[in-house]
Amino acid sequence: MQFQNSYASALEGCYVPWQGAEVPAPEILRLNEALAEELSLDVALLHAQGAPMLCGAHTPADSRPLAMAYAGHQFGNFSPQLGDGRALLLGELMDRDGQLRDLHLKGSGATPFSRGGDGKAALGPVLREYLIGEAMHALGVPTTRALAAVATGEQVARDTLLPGAVLARIASSHIRVGTFQFLAARQDTDGLRRLADYTVARHFADLADSSDRYLGFLKRVIERQALLVAHWMRLGFVHGVMNTDNTTISGETIDYGPCAFLDAYDERTVFSSIDHGGRYAYGNQPAVAQWNLARLAEALLPLIDAEDIDAAVERATEALKAFPGVYQAYWLDAMRSKLGLHSARDGDLALINELLVCMGEAGADFTLTFRRAADIVRQQPDGFTALFKEQAAVLAWVDRYQERLAKEPVDMQARATGMDRVNPLYIPRNHKVEEALEQAHTGDLTAFDRLLAAVTNPYEERADLSGYELGAPPGAAQYRTFCGT
Ligand code: AMP
Ligand code: MG
Repeated sequence: MQFQNSYASALEGCYVPWQGAEVPAPEILRLNEALAEELSLDVALLHAQGAPMLCGAHTPADSRPLAMAYAGHQFGNFSPQLGDGRALLLGELMDRDGQLRDLHLKGSGATPFSRGGDGKAALGPVLREYLIGEAMHALGVPTTRALAAVATGEQVARDTLLPGAVLARIASSHIRVGTFQFLAARQDTDGLRRLADYTVARHFADLADSSDRYLGFLKRVIERQALLVAHWMRLGFVHGVMNTDNTTISGETIDYGPCAFLDAYDERTVFSSIDHGGRYAYGNQPAVAQWNLARLAEALLPLIDAEDIDAAVERATEALKAFPGVYQAYWLDAMRSKLGLHSARDGDLALINELLVCMGEAGADFTLTFRRAADIVRQQPDGFTALFKEQAAVLAWVDRYQERLAKEPVDMQARATGMDRVNPLYIPRNHKVEEALEQAHTGDLTAFDRLLAAVTNPYEERADLSGYELGAPPGAAQYRTFCGT
């Protein structure tokens, strides 16, 4: 591997040099060969010899592994020092498009940031992140990617003893809102400027020469986060732990701990067992993203205007105020495509909201409702309306929708096919994910592989995947997820 170590070179003070723990029997369980090829890695060599490196037990000669420091607001409470408590950045690799991508290991052993944790990861959560991250990628959502899941041959102690594993993941960087907060909390303005300049050079290079680059940088991050959350909302995705240390500057989804997808549509849905107040509920995600961006803006104030803090506050506030409008525009765009609307017309927002109200009242499945909306276009609406317990309201909505469709001269077949390309049939259904992970803990990855195959090709209906499109069976207990991974 040809590592660059630009983070290590440029950002001393933002990390601790560190090594992964030794493990008894490293073994690659799954390697993402397509991604390895994107990174110009030798797939055969990785299979043959890569396991010790991909779990952190062996450090390649040109890597300067490190644990990143960051702070963060967790459920609204600020911790000035969190950091990689069970992860390591091995360095950056240049991909085939000339972009630097981080290779980062999760579960590679305790670090100075472990705060009493064991620094390890269990196989289940590693495979969960692999599966859901790759699903998100296939669904067109910016995300960290899984390069490999590596078994360590060790048992890790959770509620019971579980097989240990490491996730090797790829991201366009692991710089977070919390990385900026870490330096801001120490009032290290020089460090902050170095971090901002590094981040601008890496993610927003066209801003590097701008005299107003720090405000420009904030605006770009606002833009990317608005787009990201619009993607989550269009798919019924609940991240579950939108702390500022899990909010990337790149606008990629990171840390698939307690996340899950909606079955029945309900804005208030929370899956995480520790989110008692519903702070990170599905419908709160846009507002939380804006709150997290305000924390980034605060950290950047000394860079935006070092002499006049009031002026800095005013300019940053102005930038933040744009978020709801930017988000709404992305969301509306996405929802129009889900309904096959090719132009923007007055009344579209109301039409979409009316559908959401019907879905909420009927407890209709989020994913299937949109997937089957194409059947209305195909003049066979029964599969769609069958998703609603109470028919009268939805039948009235179908009439309004058909009137709206009639205003656009779009070929029926082309419209329906276009809708099938943005409305997935296969998402990582919660009960399917659990089934796959439970089986994996017994050493059998058959269900995992099948589900991965389904969700990484989410739009195309396949006969051999019958049942994979369905939500939890009737009577299933409410789904709960856990952070303790
Ligand atoms: P997360 O909720 O996974 O984003 O993690 C929040 C913080 O807890 C980060 O600083 C992690 O590195 C740390 N952490 C999570 N699990 C462990 C663990 N098993 N050992 C040490 N640190 C951990
Ligand atoms: Mg995290």
